[in-house]
Amino acid sequence: MKADLHCHTHLSDGKHSPAFVIERARANQVTHLAMTDHDVSQALPEPASEHDPKLIAGVEISCLWESFEVHMVGLFVDPTNATLQTLLTQQQIRRHTRVAQIDAKLTALGTTGLLSDLVAKPAIALTRSHIADFLVANGVCKTRQKAFKTHLNRSGKLFVPAQWCCYTEAASAIKTAGGIPVLAHPGRYALNKAKLRRLLESFTAAGGEALEASYPNIAADMNQYLIQLAADNDLYLSTGSDFHDAAAQWTDVGKFPGLERTAAERGIWHHPVWMKDCGASEQ
Ligand code: AMP
Ligand code: MN
Ligand code: MN
Ligand code: MN
Repeated sequence: MKADLHCHTHLSDGKHSPAFVIERARANQVTHLAMTDHDVSQALPEPASEHDPKLIAGVEISCLWESFEVHMVGLFVDPTNATLQTLLTQQQIRRHTRVAQIDAKLTALGTTGLLSDLVAKPAIALTRSHIADFLVANGVCKTRQKAFKTHLNRSGKLFVPAQWCCYTEAASAIKTAGGIPVLAHPGRYALNKAKLRRLLESFTAAGGEALEASYPNIAADMNQYLIQLAADNDLYLSTGSDFHDAAAQWTDVGKFPGLERTAAERGIWHHPVWMKDCGASEQ
């Protein structure tokens, strides 16, 4: 079994279609795949082949814990659930509004057409990643990295703060939709270990049930710390690539360090919701 439970398609800031991601997962021997687009969850596509991985409905919700932006993955959600869709629609509107505000700032700097370019794309959730691509394509910035650094990050010329939902609302909507709330890539937030511990306690109190402990570039000591935090808060462990783009060298569907054997005993594949949908699975 190989479970990639975090990746993106062109419904948000992934570069490829769901069909492409599924095919790549199959080629990379992924047996269970969750497409977890930013603030979008859609009905699963029909399997194209019996060799396809088992698909799990997912989403990645941007939310606020205290003043920090954190990301919450929902797995096994019912994409038709009204509570979840109401929240995701609000998030998509917030994203659209943010792009419109950034478009106004960019127009004042002399480059027009951002919003109309982005709404013509297949994306339902508009992200700063799309804006970075636009800035490079229009010669405003040389690279995506520079676009984030000089324009899109907190101190950047085009920065507009996002008005995300509260992490309690995200967890509650995921659970109402029958899903498992998973704290995404905890080691990627600018939080020291004491704050990370507090975040995990808040997340658990809000109904959170799992955290990602295995993703590309995770440091060995962070992996160990997250496994400890999961044990302390009685959380399951999830795994995923956070794949966005086949042209990016550092990530691919199904490519991330596996959980070691003792940690795998806490794997999310032991969660009752997984067992009900996918049956018994061993790493
Ligand atoms: P948003 O959710 O709209 O703020 O967009 C954030 C997305 O942009 C993330 O999900 C990443 O895919 C991408 N991203 C964020 N920071 C960077 C960066 N420094 N370089 C490249 N991509 C980034
Ligand atoms: Mn992204
Ligand atoms: Mn994320
Ligand atoms: Mn992601």
